[in-house]
Amino acid sequence: MYHRFDAIVVGAGGAGLMAALQLAQTPGISTAVISKLYPSRSHTGAAQGGIGAALGNLEEDHPEWHTFDTVKGGDYLVDQTAADVMCHEAVESVYELEHYGLPFSRTPDGKIAQRRFGGHTRNFGEAPVRRSCFAADRTGHMILQTLYQQCIKHEVNFYSEFQLLDLVFNDGVCCGIVALNIKDGEIHTFHAKAVLFATGGFGRAWKITSNALSNTGDGVAIAYRHGIPLEDMELYQFHPTGVYKLGILLTEGARGEGGILRNSEGERFTERYAPTLLDLAPRDMVSRFIYQEVREGRGINGGDFVHLDLTHLGAEVVEKKLPDLADFVRTYLGLDPVRELIPIQPTAHYAMGGIPTDIDGRVITGEHNTPLPGFYAAGECACVSVHGANRLGTNSLVDIVVFGRRAGRHMARYVQETGFTQLPQKPDLYAREQVGQLLARETGESAARIRSALQEEMMDKVSVVRSEEKLRAAQRTVRQLKEQYRHVAMQDRQTWYNSELHETMEVGYLLDLSESIIAGALAREESRGGHYREDYPTRDDVNFLRHTLVYDTPDGLQIRYKPVDLSKFEPKERKY
Ligand SMILES: Cc1cc2nc3c(=O)[nH]c(=O)nc-3n(C[C@H](O)[C@H](O)[C@H](O)COP(=O)(O)OP(=O)(O)OC[C@H]3O[C@@H](n4cnc5c(N)ncnc54)[C@H](O)[C@@H]3O)c2cc1C
Repeated sequence: MYHRFDAIVVGAGGAGLMAALQLAQTPGISTAVISKLYPSRSHTGAAQGGIGAALGNLEEDHPEWHTFDTVKGGDYLVDQTAADVMCHEAVESVYELEHYGLPFSRTPDGKIAQRRFGGHTRNFGEAPVRRSCFAADRTGHMILQTLYQQCIKHEVNFYSEFQLLDLVFNDGVCCGIVALNIKDGEIHTFHAKAVLFATGGFGRAWKITSNALSNTGDGVAIAYRHGIPLEDMELYQFHPTGVYKLGILLTEGARGEGGILRNSEGERFTERYAPTLLDLAPRDMVSRFIYQEVREGRGINGGDFVHLDLTHLGAEVVEKKLPDLADFVRTYLGLDPVRELIPIQPTAHYAMGGIPTDIDGRVITGEHNTPLPGFYAAGECACVSVHGANRLGTNSLVDIVVFGRRAGRHMARYVQETGFTQLPQKPDLYAREQVGQLLARETGESAARIRSALQEEMMDKVSVVRSEEKLRAAQRTVRQLKEQYRHVAMQDRQTWYNSELHETMEVGYLLDLSESIIAGALAREESRGGHYREDYPTRDDVNFLRHTLVYDTPDGLQIRYKPVDLSKFEPKERKY
């Protein structure tokens, strides 16, 4: 089936909806949002702790301090002009969300309430500051619902439960996408003047993850298969407080409200590692502190986990400020967080890397940042890069609203000035062949088995602490799994609601992305932010203060580099 819209947005999380809203508010532009999930199921809805903005509602704060924290938190791999744009526009974006009706938690005098979060400080690192704006521990849920309501109000066209299969270019200009209607298996071509990918992250490459089942990096992998390089893929964040064995996230807001991490001796071990920020040091550091405690035998009962202690906060703080967390702990662990310690371990959480873009969401390629006409990306699938080597808590929700908005506005101008590029002959050929082969093959490998083997290997060898030996072993495993995947076969070969079909394709995306993560991690022979190499334990600004670009070429993977924008702050050692 054929459709034609001026603008197509793929993904209905915070980034996609924010962009769609800008397009829908511009008269004369037709916009459609394509999403494999029903919009309100997008992972943005799982975000708990908050959205950072220097409103200064409870104490003095400035966007400039926010920029500094973002750059330092990202271990100086952040593009500083982009971070500055984000931290300044965060303030008006939060007020805009408020005006759309987002029910923020309030101070007694009616202002938006704010709380502490990891790495957020006053006056360039002096002491913690309250910067995270929140709606209890359901901030993402409220953002998603608010934006979805606004999109409905502005009559955005939604194609929900449509899975992106391919991106279409003609002569270097992006001119549409191909998607599968999950309901009946029909393949649709969407012709457009511009396409935005807002397809989210890929935490499902790891066994222990905070990410939803659908976070499989589809958009990132599809761009990569089109020869677009991926930026800084090796920089993946492990959040320190996932529920032990399950990975379900317990928000950093818990430590923002005063929660403490303790080892088997009951000791608040962060005192030894980060005397100023303690439990609220950036996530990459706290995850490594936990790893170190476990390695030195101070995990609980000698195991690979420690405790999150909220027992001193009192029932009122836990129930009012952290109601979802309390609910998760009761439901999944059968524990009462008001009275009992909570077992936690680091969980795969957030992709700092992804599809390279400029500050207007335009996808850029190569070492010289050449824009690809008509193709945009925003949100977790994109790399602007405002998070560098480690994202600060609350900065992803800022990223999706600020850059979703900027991308949507730039796209609106672009489609007003540009005509339709003709589609190439048979734009859906690749997608039809891919789906056709999967539906036809009767015997072969199981995608579910390949996925578990991949997730185990990534968890074991490509997580908080890495080394050449582990990475080489993981590289061999992923290559073998990719070979097995070429012969993958499904048991269900119906076309209606065939979840095995779209999950099988997702495994293919995870394999490609894992290969690029490992390649970037092997090449980065230093430790920076979320990437820690025990064989190269220090940061090496001489050789690696630069962004990695991984290309998938017919001759194999190629690594190139591009410079970091250091226009505001000079790189310094990170101390907290
Ligand atoms: C448990 C949890 C808690 C978090 N808490 C916070 C927090 O407190 N503060 C903070 O700043 N950040 C937080 N984050 C991170 C933040 O929520 C995410 O990075 C952000 O919401 C991503 O938004 P997005 O719009 O880029 O993507 P998502 O919200 O993940 O949406 C992706 C969209 O893409 C669509 N899609 C994907 N693939 C396809 C395909 N093949 N075809 C069609 N559609 C597709 C999906 O249907 C979905 O609509 C948290 C993340 C998690 C997992």
